[in-house]
Amino acid sequence: MSQLPPCPQCGSVYTYEDGNLYICPECAHEWDKNASAESGEQARVVRDANGNVLNDGDTVTVIKDLKVKGSSSVVKVGTKVKNIRIIEGDHDIDCKIDGFGAMQLKSEFVKKA
Ligand SMILES: [Zn+2]
Repeated sequence: MSQLPPCPQCGSVYTYEDGNLYICPECAHEWDKNASAESGEQARVVRDANGNVLNDGDTVTVIKDLKVKGSSSVVKVGTKVKNIRIIEGDHDIDCKIDGFGAMQLKSEFVKKA
């Protein structure tokens, strides 16, 4: 018996197979069996503080004062961050903030704007 992978979109475990596709009955997401098997890449879902899924290009708002590493500046609550990029790691958002430059944030400290 082979275990079907959970839905990369919503995490549902009730995935079923249909030909070359896996189908999620809960959110209706369909994806190619081979694509996920060959790349070995796990679709990563990054969520904000409210549990909303974040994607590349989203705009988020900082929900907590965040100290900037290696400086005395602080990114204030309510700071808008445009055009984020989802990356791997402990800090899973890569972005540029006006007045600060390029930096990385944790998704748990932002919410989708
Ligand atoms: Zn799903």
